[in-house]
Amino acid sequence: MGQSMVAIVQDDCTGCDLCIYHCPFEALLPLQLNPEGRKHNKRPVVVVEQRCVGCLSCIGSCPTDALHEVAVPPNSQASPLVIHEKGPATEPVVRWKKRSTRWP
Ligand code: SF4
Ligand code: SF4
Repeated sequence: MGQSMVAIVQDDCTGCDLCIYHCPFEALLPLQLNPEGRKHNKRPVVVVEQRCVGCLSCIGSCPTDALHEVAVPPNSQASPLVIHEKGPATEPVVRWKKRSTRWP
């Protein structure tokens, strides 16, 4: 593979949603529920590992630097970020049709 992927430091994610619109592959989605014990009131955004192609378009979009690059070793057969067969429950974000969420 020899490319990069991204990960989100959940403690640093305020759930502002800014990064969602920077991902062309809809790989950044909000969790359905805010995990218990979180210091932020809003649920975080997570990387849907199976959709992230490592284009890094989202890097730099996060005001709290919660998004960071993860290097994938050149001899990897699969992304080290794909660790869950089924990811956590996320909410869909409709943004392409009329009256959907606008590009900020
Ligand atoms: S690296 Fe690319 S595909 Fe992955 S979450 Fe960021 S913008 Fe989306
Ligand atoms: S931009 Fe940063 S703080 Fe906002 S939802 Fe995305 S990862 Fe979380």
